[in-house]
Amino acid sequence: MSEAEEHAVDCVVAGAGVVGLAIARALALAGRDVLVLEATGLVGSDTSARNSEVIHAGLYYRPGTLKARLCVEGRAALYTYCDERGIPHRRCGKLIVATSTAETAGLAAIDAHARACGVTDLQPLSGAEARAMEPALKAEAALLSPSTGIVDSHALMLALRGDLEDAGGMIAFNAPIRGGEVTAHGIRIEVGGAEPMRLVCARFVNAAGHGAVPLARAIAGIPAAAIPPAYFCKGSYFTLSGRAPFTRLVYPVPEQAGLGVHLTLDLGGQTRFGPDTEWVDAPNYDVDPARGEKFYAAIRRYWPALPDGALQPAYAGIRPKIVPAGAPAADFRVDGPAEHGVPGLVQLFGIESPGLTASLVLADLVAAKLG
Ligand SMILES: Cc1cc2nc3c(=O)[nH]c(=O)nc-3n(C[C@H](O)[C@H](O)[C@H](O)COP(=O)(O)OP(=O)(O)OC[C@H]3O[C@@H](n4cnc5c(N)ncnc54)[C@H](O)[C@@H]3O)c2cc1C
Repeated sequence: MSEAEEHAVDCVVAGAGVVGLAIARALALAGRDVLVLEATGLVGSDTSARNSEVIHAGLYYRPGTLKARLCVEGRAALYTYCDERGIPHRRCGKLIVATSTAETAGLAAIDAHARACGVTDLQPLSGAEARAMEPALKAEAALLSPSTGIVDSHALMLALRGDLEDAGGMIAFNAPIRGGEVTAHGIRIEVGGAEPMRLVCARFVNAAGHGAVPLARAIAGIPAAAIPPAYFCKGSYFTLSGRAPFTRLVYPVPEQAGLGVHLTLDLGGQTRFGPDTEWVDAPNYDVDPARGEKFYAAIRRYWPALPDGALQPAYAGIRPKIVPAGAPAADFRVDGPAEHGVPGLVQLFGIESPGLTASLVLADLVAAKLG
């Protein structure tokens, strides 16, 4: 393709997951010309379709990190947006449950930690108080998080897409970005798929989820030192056949790479358990039924009445990690020109949980970094 056939676009966003869509919407609402390039034929078919759909309160992240701040701010922004746009959601609350006296101390630590993150509405409950709310629960003590909720993530993405398109933005599907280069006139990108094209854009946002690290490596001129490694931590879910035993979400005291095998509900009333944690070499979304055995033991610690044979393998998601197993949790990386020195470029790495909750304010941060 010759130089003359190159198309010029103001802003290109790589990836139509919930984060890419929120960013594209924010840029379009700010009056910019925006094109989203999505490798697959759908919005939100990767991690954005493979999560717990929880609107997190922001209890666990290290104070002062982007995760901590953007979760709290993003939760408020998301509830407001859901109300305004009629997106199905429910502020159902969640119980964090200590099932032994040893874990009870963990609850106090979570409460103190949450306060340091600006979450001040946690309510300590005795075991009896927790059981009065959720009679099927086994608990020595619990914490109630009233501002935790659930959202229909697909309805959210449809609303974001609608706003983007109403503001003049576009999404090109089956348009995988193969690579590109940083030039004096902007960032040139090569798009594959059925209709290959070459674009040059003044602003480029890499919101490609698991594709973000390989994409950054494929764009000449992005300093290698500005690209983190990629690791994959899989989380499998199992669904419960039968009636939901609880009306709130139920979480154990958290473990290192994830939040423990917790119980979430979707807006259709389905109960699901998970995600567990399994470090894998490359993404694959098969759910091994054998992992269910460990689920029974973990769940029965807080729900002893879980019947044998009640769990069905459901789906898996993969946390896009930028540090390996055993390392302290990494923060979100939202790298703009100040971080990597390339004008007009923002790259997002490690956008694991609470990326759905934080999506709207991640978008504001990206827009601010693009100037
Ligand atoms: C198991 C699990 C549970 C979670 N639970 C929650 C939760 O309850 N609450 C919460 O707030 N967060 C949760 N999260 C986090 C949340 O799901 C993610 O932060 C969010 O979905 C990330 O969205 P994204 O747009 O960055 O990425 P994705 O949804 O992965 O989207 C990236 C898109 O980029 C596209 N792409 C990739 N490469 C290219 C390329 N070269 N060219 C063009 N397109 C490309 C992909 O096809 C994909 O559509 C969870 C995550 C996991 C893994």
